[in-house]
Amino acid sequence: MTETALRVIVWNENVHERQNEEVRAVYPNGIHEAIAAGLREHLGEQAVVRTATLDQPEHGLTDDVLESTDVLTWWGHLAHDQVSDVVVDRVHRRVLNGMGLVVLHSGHESKIFRRLMGTTCALLWREADDREVVWTVNPAHPIAAGVPHPFIIPRQEMYGEFFDIPQPDELVFISSFTGGEVFRSGCCYTRGWGRVFYFSPGHETFPVYYQPEVRRIIANGVRWAYRTNAQRSQTYRPTPLSIGWYEGKAGEQV
Ligand code: ZN
Repeated sequence: MTETALRVIVWNENVHERQNEEVRAVYPNGIHEAIAAGLREHLGEQAVVRTATLDQPEHGLTDDVLESTDVLTWWGHLAHDQVSDVVVDRVHRRVLNGMGLVVLHSGHESKIFRRLMGTTCALLWREADDREVVWTVNPAHPIAAGVPHPFIIPRQEMYGEFFDIPQPDELVFISSFTGGEVFRSGCCYTRGWGRVFYFSPGHETFPVYYQPEVRRIIANGVRWAYRTNAQRSQTYRPTPLSIGWYEGKAGEQV
């Protein structure tokens, strides 16, 4: 690992895996370990990938941990309400200051994603072994790099429109399903200095996070969401100014 390696935390509520045999059979070490393995596979020496889970003190997302995190990925479903508001506030502040956030699948209903979007983030869904076809609608976008157009996820939960999110700053993927529904499955946002990528494939009872195309997209999403120190907010706060304050101050940051 290099000294400048991208520092990633893969966060998972890790509840299904402990309660449900079917989920444990697909993700015996937890969904977070499958996601982390995909990131290590694609980012190699470029990244240090760690994991954190709900049951850890402060959900594994202490101030110190977040201060040394460049990009956070988020998977949750059953336990959104158990995520402490203090931790949500902390993650929110870090994103606005420039930490990247990659929100996966049912994370659409997480407190942090809804806070950042400002909408309900509700959608239509069906758990019935649909085939999902993922279509690239922005082939020049870095998150689409190396992703076949289209690619198929053989078994997946259906997520359908209307998806109550703000218009994405950049839409990278849409998906279609066996039932004919469509969904904006890869959406990019900027919030403050931070970048947020939402990617919907990844249901807990299907082996989606082992699929090479999905792993590539999540790794691309982490790379895209990464901001260098120079690209982040240093200290941004409301600042009172007098007329002419900028004379002779060109180039200095307020
Ligand atoms: Zn699901």
